[in-house]
Formats: sequence, C-alpha cells, structure tokens
Amino acid sequence: MTPSELKAEITRLNAPYRQGSPLVTDEFYDALVDELEALMPIDEFEAFLRTLTEETGDTKHDRIVGSLRKFKYGVLAPLERWLKRYITNRILTQPKIDGLTFMAVYREGRLYSGATKGDGNSGESITDKLMYILPQTIPSEKAIEVRGELTLTGDDHIALGFKNRRNGSVGLIRRDEINPAEIVCCKAFAFEYREMDSEVGQGLGRAEQLVMLESLGFTVAQHTMLDVTGMDVETLQELLADHLAESRKTAPFSMDGLVLCAPETRSEDAYLPVELVAWKKPLPAVATPVLDLEWSTSRGQLVKPVVLLQSVDIDGTTISRVTGHNALYIKNSGIGVGSTVTIIKGGDVIPKLEDVPVMVEPTLPTDCPSCGSPLEWKGVDLACTAEICSAATLKRVAHFVKNRGIEGASETSLENWGITDFATLLAWTPAEGYKSQQSFMDQLTARVFHASPVDIFTAMGCVGLADKNMDKIISFCGSLDAATALMHLTGLGDTPPLPAGIGIKMLNNARKTWMENLSLLANIVVDERYVGAPTLLNKEKLSGSLSGKSFLITGTLSSPRKSIESLIVAHGGKLASSVSKNLDFLIAGESAGSKLDKARQLGVTVIDEATLHSMIEASATEPEPPKEQVEPTTSNPEPVYKQVSLF
Ligand SMILES: [Zn+2]
Repeated sequence: MTPSELKAEITRLNAPYRQGSPLVTDEFYDALVDELEALMPIDEFEAFLRTLTEETGDTKHDRIVGSLRKFKYGVLAPLERWLKRYITNRILTQPKIDGLTFMAVYREGRLYSGATKGDGNSGESITDKLMYILPQTIPSEKAIEVRGELTLTGDDHIALGFKNRRNGSVGLIRRDEINPAEIVCCKAFAFEYREMDSEVGQGLGRAEQLVMLESLGFTVAQHTMLDVTGMDVETLQELLADHLAESRKTAPFSMDGLVLCAPETRSEDAYLPVELVAWKKPLPAVATPVLDLEWSTSRGQLVKPVVLLQSVDIDGTTISRVTGHNALYIKNSGIGVGSTVTIIKGGDVIPKLEDVPVMVEPTLPTDCPSCGSPLEWKGVDLACTAEICSAATLKRVAHFVKNRGIEGASETSLENWGITDFATLLAWTPAEGYKSQQSFMDQLTARVFHASPVDIFTAMGCVGLADKNMDKIISFCGSLDAATALMHLTGLGDTPPLPAGIGIKMLNNARKTWMENLSLLANIVVDERYVGAPTLLNKEKLSGSLSGKSFLITGTLSSPRKSIESLIVAHGGKLASSVSKNLDFLIAGESAGSKLDKARQLGVTVIDEATLHSMIEASATEPEPPKEQVEPTTSNPEPVYKQVSLF
C-alpha cells in the first residue's frame, strides 16, 4: 500500500479499535502502523498519529501522553540501536498490559481528576469511574500525576460477557451508567509517578517511581531488572522472549509485550518517547475456521455453547472443540460459521479461544436444544424457560450417580433406560438379562440406599455452587439442618458468618436447587430400600477409592514413576499432565521442584507416597466410622440413619 492508502485504512480501523470493538486483530492494526512508520519521516508520522484521536477529550493532560515505539521479536536493528544509546548495564522491564491507559491527578492527598489517554494531548474525563478503582486518598500532600493501565483480570471478562479483558475494561469505562459491582472488576496497574511541579528530565527515575507508587497504595504490576552488561542483542532478544513467556503464565492480565527502559529513565513530554520502548512478541496462537456451534442445556438450564473447529494440532494435541463460554460472549465476539478464531494452549492444559480475527454476525438459538421451550436472556446466558427442562433434570441425575461413584451410567445410558429425572430413577428396575442394568441397580443400592443423607445430598450438586462448597457449608454449620437454616437466613437478607470463600451471592444462586434437593432427598430416605450409613463427607476424599481424582507425580519416588502411575489408574484415579487448580493431588517425592511450588501457590493438596498407599489401602477395607458425625443424632435406635429431619 502507498502511504496515503495506509493512512486511509488506519484511519478507518482506528475508531472501532479505540472503542474496544476492533474490526481486525490488534496485531494486524499494529502491522499497518509499522508499515506506515517505515515509509514516512518521523515527524510526519508523529503528526499523523496525533490525528488518530479518540473522541476529543475534555481534560487536557498536564504533560503529553505519548505512544511507545514498538520493537518486534525478530527485528534486531532498532533494538540494538536503542540498547547502545540508552542502556548502560541494566534494563527495567514492565509488562505491557493490553488495556486502557489512564492518568490520574492527586492533590492534597485526594484523587482530584482522571482521564483516558485520548489523543495524548487531552482525554475524556473518567474521574467518576476511577473513584471506584483507584485509592481515593494517598499518604502524600504533593500534586502528583499517576499513569497506569486499566484492565479486567482473570476470567472476569467471560463472566461479564466481554470478548477479552481489554474490551471489557474499555466497555465498562465507556458506559454512561456506573454499575458499582461491575466497575470494580476493572483493575488499575500504575506504572508512572510524577510530581507535577518537576521539570522535564527531573524527578524520580522509573524504578524509584514504582517503589513510590507501591508505598502510596497503588497496585504495580510485577517488574524485573535485567542485567545486560556486555550482552549482545541476539542474547537479549532470547532473554526477553523467555521473560515474556514466563510473565504471561502468571499474569492476571493480557500482555502484548514488555515495556523496556533504563531504571533511571525520567518522565518525558513527547508524543513518541525515545527512552521508553515497547518490545513485542505475539502469542503462539493457531488460527482455524469455525465449523459450527453446539449448544446444550446445563444442569442449571443455561444453554452453553461449544465452538466446533476445523481440527488443529497444538503441541501434539488435536483440538477440534473449545468452550464458547456463554451466549453473550459468542454474540460480542462475532463467533459463528464462517468466522476464524485463534486458539492458544497456555500454562493450563485446556486450550482457549484467544481472538477472533474474522468475525461474523452470530446466529444464536431461540429454543432450548433439549426441550424446545423458548430461551430468554439471564445475565450473559440464554436460559431455557421451561419450568423443568428435560436436559437439566437428566444432567442432574447423571451428575448425582457419577458423584456417588456409580460407573457405566452415562447420560445416554440413563436416557436409554428411561431414567430422565430423580422420580424415574427411584421407580426404575433393571430389565431381565441385561448385565449393565443389573450392575447399575447393584451400585445404586450400595452407593445410594446405603449412604448417609448428607452424602446423598452433597452428591446432587447445587446450581451456582461447586460440590466441594456444599461440603464446606455443611461442615461449617455442623449439620444439613443447620446449613439449610443458613440458606433460609441469607435468603431473608441476614448476613450470618459464612465459611471462607463462600459469599451471599453464591448462596442466593444456590438456594432454589438446595431446596429442590431436599425434597428429592426426602423421597430417597423414605424409599423402603433405604438403609443409610454414617456420613463420610470430606473424609471420603481421603479414604474411598481414587475414583475420579486426578494425580500428578513430581520428584523421585521409591519405585519407577510408570509403576506408580499404573497403580493410580488401576484404582480409578486419573493422571494429570500439569499443575492447575483442578488438580486434586500432587504426589511429591525427593527433590521436587517447580511443580511443588506451583501446587502450593494454587492450594493443591500435596501428599507423599505413603499417603497415596494408605488411600489405596483404605479403599480396600471398610471405611472407618468417622470421628465426628455431622448428622444430627437421633434417639430412635431403629433404624439409625433413616430418621432425618429436613428443616
Ligand atoms: Zn429446555
């Protein structure tokens, strides 16, 4: 393209890009800007950049907020020139957070005003929004300007239905209405501190600024000092690449590169700063066309999308389907037949949708794929409006029997046997001569009719509450009755003490299913086949078999790793390939390394070899009666476990 064609194209793509609903990927956009930069004298290029204004802001910045020059992995000459000119022996690296840049002014210890970057000269006032995000007061009376990046972190963008973290922060900040619960999901990472009466070239150096920001109560993203004394540019490039890849693994935000400078760099006043530069290396993402969307109704009657892809190979794994999260995400991301998505396989095992380089107008379902009832929006999801949806009840039964350790009963088998809900499960009898059905009946008798009410109840699962949290609440309250009373209390607006990690919102979401489960439980315990058993609850996880639990081995054990792995599989356990928060147990041997550190960070249960063996032995013998029963005791001795009051 000629420079004028490039300018026209960049101008056309600029507005949607700035507003957080880009028509092309950021990389494609950046490539056009790079191409133009190479074709123009630098001052003309800078002047053009200034014309790419966001909506003209009403807040003039005290000093120009420049755009960083971008160096790319694989292009060494500009990096080398910069290195020679500005770096003596150390480089300060900061993550280049892919978010929305803000500046905030504090006077006399209070947040005074805040704005977006805008055209670098003036931006849009966002003081009202920053009040929710930044410290409102700081322990300093000086007039200071703080610059930083706003972004959503973790999976908040998915929960709020945004395509990515950057779009989420832009979307929330641009909205006229402020929803306090949502706006606080925007996190601010400060990266520059300046006393407003300091002259250009004076004041604190960048590294000291970060220390100052932290001491004033701002969140500062993790930064690193690299010693590059005598290092050649190729070695530096590889060092930066490794550092970026490592940072991406743990960063709660999206990074499109690193910001580099000498630690003593002072704040500049230029549209294109010279000392501070951005260094980029794109994520190794693989693009593939979307073949279809598959929608299915969950236990909570939400209709969830799976994106079906033309198969791609990433790190030796063939990926042909990936979660589409929720209907709003699909809609806002433009995912549908004919679109192209990029997939990454990061530190986690599960591949994720990264971006949507080619978007389409998505087609969302209007009726429940299971029962045909109309759908309506419920938050970010489409939900089946049926009073009781067949898909949801079948999934709840399947979840229940799986949680009780009953094998050979997939959703399809249950449906084929005519079991679609708890009523048909209780009324069901096996057909003569079918071994699989007889086996299911035997397991049902052993694992449901010979189980305690609490264990039955917690196996049912609760919409909006992870299974382990049901255990947690009941343990915390001491009995199912007390836990149910807690559910009632919180429903009435009371705020009683709750176990760690459990919030009122979770209970509100779970209350309806909790009460439904109580009536299902009542039907089971009055069944004439019901015998009961002592409650195992949490202890089951450490006694019982290894069924359904995932294991990973690290370090050196007494026998070869392969033989321990076969032992785990033989007792129903699964082998995981990396440490994630979904891992149940890390078996740590001699000289265990980084996996052990990561497991501890994520709160994964770490056990030794002896514990593994005792878990396996425990499964071979009768479970010991638990030391403390959470079941309310009853004075009626016969039958002991059949008496259960539900409220
Ligand atoms: Zn339905």
